[in-house]
Amino acid sequence: MNVWRRLSGPRRALALAGAGVLVAGGLVTIPVTAAHAATQCDIAYSANEWPGGFSANITIKNIGDPVNGWTLGWTFPNSGQRVQQGWSAEFTQSGSQVTARSLSYNGSFATGASTSIGFNGAWSGSNPKPTSFTLNGVTCNGGTTPPTTPPPTTPPPTTPPPTTPPPTGSKVDNPYAGARGYVNPEWKAKADAEPGGSRISNNPTAVWLDRIAAINGTPDSSSNGAFGVRDHLEEALRQGAGYIQFVIYNLPGRDCAALASNGELGPDDLPRYKAEYIDPIAAIQADPKYRNIRIINIIEIDSLPNLVTNTSGQAGGTAMCDTVKANGAYVNGVGYALAKLGTLGNVYNYIDAAHHGWIGWDTNFGPTADLLKTAAVASGSTVANVHGFIVNTANYSALREPYIKITDNVNGQSVRQSKWIDWNFYVDELSFAQAFRDKLVQVGFNSGIGMLIDTSRNGWGGTARPTGPGATTSVDTYVNGGRIDRRIHAGNWCNQAGAGLGERPRPAPEPGIDAYVWVKPPGESDGSSELIPNDEGKGFDRMCDPTYTGNPRNGNSATGALPNAPISGAWFSAQFQELMRNAYPAL
Ligand code: BGC
Repeated sequence: MNVWRRLSGPRRALALAGAGVLVAGGLVTIPVTAAHAATQCDIAYSANEWPGGFSANITIKNIGDPVNGWTLGWTFPNSGQRVQQGWSAEFTQSGSQVTARSLSYNGSFATGASTSIGFNGAWSGSNPKPTSFTLNGVTCNGGTTPPTTPPPTTPPPTTPPPTTPPPTGSKVDNPYAGARGYVNPEWKAKADAEPGGSRISNNPTAVWLDRIAAINGTPDSSSNGAFGVRDHLEEALRQGAGYIQFVIYNLPGRDCAALASNGELGPDDLPRYKAEYIDPIAAIQADPKYRNIRIINIIEIDSLPNLVTNTSGQAGGTAMCDTVKANGAYVNGVGYALAKLGTLGNVYNYIDAAHHGWIGWDTNFGPTADLLKTAAVASGSTVANVHGFIVNTANYSALREPYIKITDNVNGQSVRQSKWIDWNFYVDELSFAQAFRDKLVQVGFNSGIGMLIDTSRNGWGGTARPTGPGATTSVDTYVNGGRIDRRIHAGNWCNQAGAGLGERPRPAPEPGIDAYVWVKPPGESDGSSELIPNDEGKGFDRMCDPTYTGNPRNGNSATGALPNAPISGAWFSAQFQELMRNAYPAL
């Protein structure tokens, strides 16, 4: 999984040319000459509604003087319109009058800056848009403009909308906040059996539903436990857990650009995916017995980004990616999963959004955001079914690169020209996640979305960890000497030698980030280092073979994979031990 796409020559040129565009891209298009010496603003309001409920996004652009602390006010045209739960501001409503006050992190509002807030609401009768807004008491003359992207209203659904509208009021902004995570007892048992493993075995890790049999449990599987979905939820009740994380991972033609995590469903098996996989999972998650547990679904790792970067015509593109792009299996499968699971009041969907070393070039960045939006409104789904996105799932990209900034120059050369960065616009996952969040809001996702970062194996501690910037001899010495991520190439993804556990799971670590999570359970292999016959559909991908010298996708570099690895998902003791040794923060 996590196949990286190297840029070919022409794409590099494009990436370079696009630099200014990316940096300058804003949320609101209206060109405004700032009329200074006054408070002034421009509002874009969009709503996505269903019978009785709606979800609204408001983008505020400050076209007046800078303000420190702001209050946005408006009056709903209809007395039946109510704010129920908001984000990125503190909302109060009195009669039809609403005020939204800035929070500590977004109160300081420079001239020309934009900020987005949003809320879920209820309506009766009709749900017209407010016609006028005030900022700090002054009417916004910039006007009420349509958002730059079409409002995230879904075209007529192909399947009937849910008969019970989503109980929007009951979803919390950040399901990780103030809640204890579910500890998977099956992972814990394997971790506890390792010397020193009990130091980390009480951390929440995700439960991967990587085949139909995992729904009810697969006692004889090498890589999955005996527990099914219901067993995990029962155990979560017993633990008094506040949230539990499942990975929905069984698309038709899964892992289309690689071999290590191919699955059981063929590319034309969308009907089976729906009926035999998503429907039964949704039925269990909908059981009112579990309504007080926040159920977090991580939706389909690597799938949509593969359609952006790994179809034919691109170096290393595969026929399977072509097939599942052409037949809509991924887009419609993801849409179906979102629609089925997202309408449940206590269920939170986070879609996988690859990582910076995959879509951090502008040739991939925008197209991936657009495709995620397409999938989010496919199969009768709406963007309201998406609570957020996850990056770096099962990958190794460092959270932060403290000794390299993307704007650094060495001897007049941009670090973007180094072999390691290779014209990417991001050096680490945190900066990428925050920027991609903005992009996703721009293409029509709710402004309250939160990002998750999988920090299970991106610690890169131990003795090889740099303690300062690299030598300024050249961009390459500077980047290679100072980078925290010690992989041979950023496109390497399988059982990376030298990696360590990253940040322990915790909520709300940074603005826009709902949590650091351990979705890939540390100690579970990414793929076998040689061919191992199995009945799970798992193939042998040479990116997991330490003797393989690579291909154009990883700059024809060595794979950096550990030897003697079992098939993906199976326990890999040597890797687990190394991850603990190289943990950062250290254990
Ligand atoms: C495998 C799954 C496994 C998951 C978590 C994936 O690479 O394909 O079978 O459950 O990793 O370890």
